[in-house]
Amino acid sequence: MRKMLLLAAAALFAIASVQAQRRGCLHSSVTTRSGSSYMLPEPYKFDAQKTYRVPVVLFSFSDLDFSMDNPAAYYNRLFNEPGFNEGKGKGCVADYFRDQSAGRLNLQFDIYGPVKIDKGARDHAYNSDGGEDMRKALSLLPETTDADFTVYDWNGDGRANEVIFVAAGLMGNATNGFSYLGPNSYFQIPNTKLPGGIDYYYYSLNCERLQGDIISGIGTIVHEFCHSLGLPDLYPFGSGTAFSTVDEWDLMDGGNMTNYGWCPPNLSAMERMYLGWDAPEELTAPTTVEDMKPLGEGGKTYLVRSTSNSNEYYLLENRRQEGWDYGCPGNGLLIFHVDFDIDAWRNNQVNTSDQHYRYGLFHASGMDFRAWCPKNTGTDYTRWTEGNWLRSRYLSTSPYPYADPATLAVNNRLTDESSPAATLFTPAADGRLFMGKAITNIHLSADGAVSFDFMKGEETGIVDITTMPPGGSQSPVWQGISGYTIDGRRLPSRPTAKGLYIRRSASGGSEKCYLP
Ligand SMILES: [Zn+2]
Repeated sequence: MRKMLLLAAAALFAIASVQAQRRGCLHSSVTTRSGSSYMLPEPYKFDAQKTYRVPVVLFSFSDLDFSMDNPAAYYNRLFNEPGFNEGKGKGCVADYFRDQSAGRLNLQFDIYGPVKIDKGARDHAYNSDGGEDMRKALSLLPETTDADFTVYDWNGDGRANEVIFVAAGLMGNATNGFSYLGPNSYFQIPNTKLPGGIDYYYYSLNCERLQGDIISGIGTIVHEFCHSLGLPDLYPFGSGTAFSTVDEWDLMDGGNMTNYGWCPPNLSAMERMYLGWDAPEELTAPTTVEDMKPLGEGGKTYLVRSTSNSNEYYLLENRRQEGWDYGCPGNGLLIFHVDFDIDAWRNNQVNTSDQHYRYGLFHASGMDFRAWCPKNTGTDYTRWTEGNWLRSRYLSTSPYPYADPATLAVNNRLTDESSPAATLFTPAADGRLFMGKAITNIHLSADGAVSFDFMKGEETGIVDITTMPPGGSQSPVWQGISGYTIDGRRLPSRPTAKGLYIRRSASGGSEKCYLP
């Protein structure tokens, strides 16, 4: 086990060093656009009563086969078997989409191959697109099956909607120095057809192994499939220098790698809204939100919109390390900052500028990826924290409330004056670059529910008045909490003089206390 952990740490470092040169998954260099002026398709309206079928084509190389005895049987389980957890995951590919769509998207994957192409696995440029490989694989497919491929046409327009490829061997973009394929997605590859001469709309390419002998989980497969549903990459590339924005919090950033891909996180409120699978409640008037359940338990999500730009808004969701979110970096309220632009979204250009992330996260600790990066701090915070679940510490301090471990100071608010502040890219109606809609008193209960105040002012966050029982500085009522004078000065220890004080617990609750 220990050896395994060391290997895992080494693997992450290799991934991190390579990802600094990340590029988007949509590789127009090997394909042509057909039927769309965008790089990503429009979201499809799924009928919960139907089952949508997708062909999966396995192919191997002249010098490399799949590592398992029966690849077709294995991948049939990985794609279709309910609760499939051979990699200690939460289920199969079809399970993931059933859960994320609340039952709207029911998928059945039909496995074909493997077919062996006349090309060596290492006969590729680093992180190759694999266009020629997929073309060869499809040309061999009619020799292996007489199946009717018209069943993959979802809407009767004469073309199949999606084809998934899985190649034997290593993922090129996770293994520096190897010459294998890089997962990617795009429109139909030129000069290819499915058996029966059938065109298809979109493909995605995935690889068998993540690193060394480690089999890839479902994470990259569902990430690439989400491109075919219309979701863009959220990691920065192009002019961006940081390789992570929301990372393990999001499948379309680094979440596809969680636990070697076996536990991809839930789709976010933004992604569910875009796909038509969720409608966040928009908050417009002062209110208190209570008992906000975790996203994975069907919890509600909330939207706070700018007064001047309807496309700029915050999305609030409660994330908890359970279910598909087991591998997320932390627990609590995530506040995403979205500056939606349909052209940027559908052309896979969401986070191409470090100065203007169109999909980012307010980090309650004030630490974004640059602060975590060992290059900037000299401290490697990237190590896994929980055995072979490979939960890293990236962005573990993003959720609200956040208690600074050194000072116990609690950040439980996002306001125009807080740090980080509730900023905007486009000036609000008052001309300022602030949202002007305070989110305060963010509280995380022991049972995982979140509560917060919306537009209820930016005072000290006092929610209750109690009489503090007498006791020494180690009194249970004072442990794990921080105290302040009524005018906001932090106390070094439990107060001894008679008077009124404010105390805040590590979970973010605060209350006025009276010491008789
Ligand atoms: Zn991608």
